Amino acid sequence: MDFNKAVEFHGHVCPGIAIGYRVAKLAEARFQERAEDEELVAIIENKSCSADAIQVINGCTFGKGNLIFKNYGKHVYTFFKRGDKKALRIALIPEALPTDSYHSALFAKLRAGTANSEEVKEFRRLHEEKCQKVLELPEEKLFQLKEIEIEPPKKAKIYPTLPCSECGEGFMEPLGRVKAGQFVCNPCFEGKK
Ligand SMILES: [Zn+2]
Ligand SMILES: [Zn+2]
Repeated sequence: MDFNKAVEFHGHVCPGIAIGYRVAKLAEARFQERAEDEELVAIIENKSCSADAIQVINGCTFGKGNLIFKNYGKHVYTFFKRGDKKALRIALIPEALPTDSYHSALFAKLRAGTANSEEVKEFRRLHEEKCQKVLELPEEKLFQLKEIEIEPPKKAKIYPTLPCSECGEGFMEPLGRVKAGQFVCNPCFEGKK
């Protein structure tokens, strides 16, 4: 699978999808065959663009339960085969992609909608340059690899769906809350619906 597939799935070219692509290809090579669907499990410690490459290349998805998200905001990716304690931990080396304050400032302007067309062009150029760098850097310059042992997480359990007493929508039983003696969904409990 090539980089274009990841980009197509993700929707744009960016350094994040490039990082995810390198991680995904590395995991693919280490774990060889993509195995029957659920076998390869990925634990990702951020929810940035990179996650899309892992979903499309490694087939690790939320829907299948073999994509586990930890909100640590780190470029750390751990792969293992279900039922196996041996895992490969892939961590991005921060020095590999030093922060470019000019690039960041342009990004901030772009997001705020205050960048002029020259700045937009310049941003895209820098963004693609960084992306290219990620694609070309040798593996050992980009990532720190570690073989680790983990306690494999249990397979996702299937729970019954119950109707919410307030909004009537179904919710998964263990996620229900009690409000004034009624069993309700979380958004209704928190008054967000
Ligand atoms: Zn992106
Ligand atoms: Zn509800």
